Amino acid sequence: MSTQKKIAVYPGTFDPVTNGHLDIMKRSLKMFDKLIVAVAHNPDKKPAFSIERRMEFIQKSTVGWENIKVDHFENLLTDYMKTVEGGVIVRGLRAVTDYEYELQMGLMNRTLDPSIETIFMIPSLDYSFLSSRLIKEIAHLRGDVKGLVPESVLPFLQKERVGD
Ligand code: ADP
Repeated sequence: MSTQKKIAVYPGTFDPVTNGHLDIMKRSLKMFDKLIVAVAHNPDKKPAFSIERRMEFIQKSTVGWENIKVDHFENLLTDYMKTVEGGVIVRGLRAVTDYEYELQMGLMNRTLDPSIETIFMIPSLDYSFLSSRLIKEIAHLRGDVKGLVPESVLPFLQKERVGD
C-alpha cells in the first residue's frame, strides 16, 4: 500500500475568502492528509485586496486548523502543481453555472499536464449562493454580510466602502 500522503491544493483568487470557501476547505481536510490553499495573484482580475491581505484573511480564519497551509502562486497552476508531489486540485461547484467554466479549466489543466487530477466539491446549501464578487457588491451598498464571510474580513469590507 502506498504511504504517500494525499495532498489537496485548493486554488482560487479568494478576494476575499468567504464562508463558502471555508466550507470547501473543511470538507477537503476530511478527505486529504493535507490541504494547501493556493492564492492566485490574478492581476487581470484586478483584485480588491492585495495578495498579502487575501492570504492573511485565510490564515486568520483557519487558526487552529490542522494540516492546512496557505501559499500563493503567480503563474500557471499546473506549474505550481509540479512543486506539490502527488497533489490533486480541489475546486468548488456551487451551481450548474459553475460547471461549464470549471470543466473547461479542468480539461485545460489536464491538457497541460495529464498527471494532474481535479476533484469538485459541493458546499453546504447555506453557502451555495455565495461568491466573493457578490459579497463585495453587497458590502459596497452597505448591506450586512455578517455570517457570510469570516469575522476578520468584515472590518476590511467596511473600510472598502469608505469614501465611495
Ligand atoms: P477563482 O477566481 O479561481 O474562480 P474564487 O476565489 O472565486 O477563485 O473561487 C475558488 C474556487 O472556490 C472556485 O472553484 C469556486 O467555484 C469555488 N467557490 C467560490 N465560492 C464558493 C462557495 N460559496 N461555495 C463553494 N465553492 C465556492
